[in-house]
Amino acid sequence: MADIIQLLPDHVANQIAAGEVVQRPASVVKELLENAIDAGADTIKLIIKDAGKTLVQVIDNGKGMSTTDARLSFERHATSKIRSAEDLFQLHTKGFRGEALASIAAIAHVELKTKQDTDDVGNVLVIEGSIVTSQDIVVTPTGTSVSVKNLFFNIPARRNFLKSDTVELRHIIDEFHRVALAHPGISFALYNNGSESFNLPISNYRQRIVNIFGAKTNEKLVPVEEDTEVLNISGFVGKPEFAKKTRGEQYFFVNNRFIKSAYLNHAIASAFEGLLKSGTHASYFLNLTVDPQTIDINIHPTKTEIKFDDEHTLYALLRSAVKHSLGQFNIAPVLDFERDPNLDTPYSYKKNETSIPKVEVDRSFNPFQEERSSKPRVASFKKEPTESWESLYVGLESKGNESKQDFSAISFESEERTASIFDEDKQVEKTHTTYQLHNKYIVSTIKSGMMVIDQHRAHQRVLYEDFLKNLTVKEAASQQLLFPLQLHFSPQDIVIINQLKVDLEHTGFVFSSVMEELVEITGVPVGVPESEVSIILEQLVSDVENEVPERHFSASDLLAKSMAKSLAIKTGQSLQKDEQEHLVNKLFACKEPNVSPTNRTTFITMSVDELDKKFI
Ligand code: ADP
Ligand code: MG
Repeated sequence: MADIIQLLPDHVANQIAAGEVVQRPASVVKELLENAIDAGADTIKLIIKDAGKTLVQVIDNGKGMSTTDARLSFERHATSKIRSAEDLFQLHTKGFRGEALASIAAIAHVELKTKQDTDDVGNVLVIEGSIVTSQDIVVTPTGTSVSVKNLFFNIPARRNFLKSDTVELRHIIDEFHRVALAHPGISFALYNNGSESFNLPISNYRQRIVNIFGAKTNEKLVPVEEDTEVLNISGFVGKPEFAKKTRGEQYFFVNNRFIKSAYLNHAIASAFEGLLKSGTHASYFLNLTVDPQTIDINIHPTKTEIKFDDEHTLYALLRSAVKHSLGQFNIAPVLDFERDPNLDTPYSYKKNETSIPKVEVDRSFNPFQEERSSKPRVASFKKEPTESWESLYVGLESKGNESKQDFSAISFESEERTASIFDEDKQVEKTHTTYQLHNKYIVSTIKSGMMVIDQHRAHQRVLYEDFLKNLTVKEAASQQLLFPLQLHFSPQDIVIINQLKVDLEHTGFVFSSVMEELVEITGVPVGVPESEVSIILEQLVSDVENEVPERHFSASDLLAKSMAKSLAIKTGQSLQKDEQEHLVNKLFACKEPNVSPTNRTTFITMSVDELDKKFI
């Protein structure tokens, strides 16, 4: 028998390995930024075009490469960073596999320019799909510039698999943040499609966080410092009251490398126990420094996982360090020289006598008004109008036989008929056929029996179709605000808002300006309360960040869904009779009334037959 095993040709083997290292443009960003850091650069520029699909370029002022090294750097397993297996346990660099450049060059058009300080001229190399197409001498500053163009040009399947530009850019910015946060001693800039998105000068850690996440972050940070034999912890946690619904701002760095660890995350969460509103997550920016011998990062080239020798001790130390800081912050103000003095009590208030707090009781308080109601009330003393109970009996005499699925066949009880039952009762003002159950469902009689509608989902459907229509016809009505509304966002949120601006305008938003960290709004869609605007935009940004796009992803669809979600009547909100009816009517005027925008059932029906069966 002939031998059947063959060695894969190099370029095929390289493509396969590339799949491991390079999953998306953000992976290229990570590898190139890390190489620049390993080269000792203190100024690094990242240039992005079309979310990295057209271009990812990193320019550094590091030590550069010699002519031979420039050529060698693209060979697989060519690295200057380790010489033997033992070095793996003494890693002080980001890279060590010598795989990144080889992998990137296998699936993109790469141009490398590099010059060492001691040389007068540098080298320029062009490599396309692992093949060096040219090598020349070039006049270039000391350092290295790597341009990666047309990623996955030779693997169309991978290229098609990339997500929308918004999502890919989001991943790139995440990667950029992680690297920039781990290295405040290096200046970073990010240019996206020709405009500067971030410019981060060399600074201390607090300033770096503020430069990335916006000036407002400064007051939210509580310092954490702990130095023990096994580990050093330094950084900040966010004050509990600023905790967010999304897990965005959570960063662990171990020896300046961003890592993810559910276990250590849990340590922080437990330190915050009792301090956070449910459903919110504390932010943290924590650097752990440990002996490189006690960790193993050689798990997977792109994974941000790490193995610690003694996780339990780490957990305990981290938890207690964070608890300690939170305690200090809550009980006595910490002596923090970086603290913004404006945040302390102003002098004029210091001598003011404190007044005994008055207890005021809001008698009209309805604990079910909000979703996060604490305890159900045993009894309500508020006198409810009694007009609604009768609708329970309405229409039972008429048995229909509409099919359960066919919502178009659902016909509502007419009012005249219901009213007639109570003709002799003088109190009847107007009889309705809807009834609200537990401030969550709207029960309505239908010819065949009854229907139960989920008010939150139903309203989402109504709003979603409205917004979608406005987005397509582009002539939504807008209501002018008396005073412009100023909202603060972090620079990366602004990137997203800028991308959605045109669509948002089609729904009725009017932006007077979108600046680096501030959005000024002078008009909102009709019916959107001013107080909701910041919540809507925050939710929208977080939805875009966490979006898992389907193949036919459209920005308008996401926007409509997100706004519908924010604005829909919540579970727990009590509705007037006419509001209930209006909602039911609007729902059944929708194109797809039977499901919410996220495909959840909006209503169920129960026929009288089914009810009858229950009474056997
Ligand atoms: P690794 O970083 O794991 O060593 P890479 O494929 O990323 O592997 O890089 C290969 C080698 O090329 C590095 O070990 C380094 O010597 C050299 N190199 C890569 N990028 C740079 C850079 N920006 N400046 C100087 N040398 C670089
Ligand atoms: Mg590398």
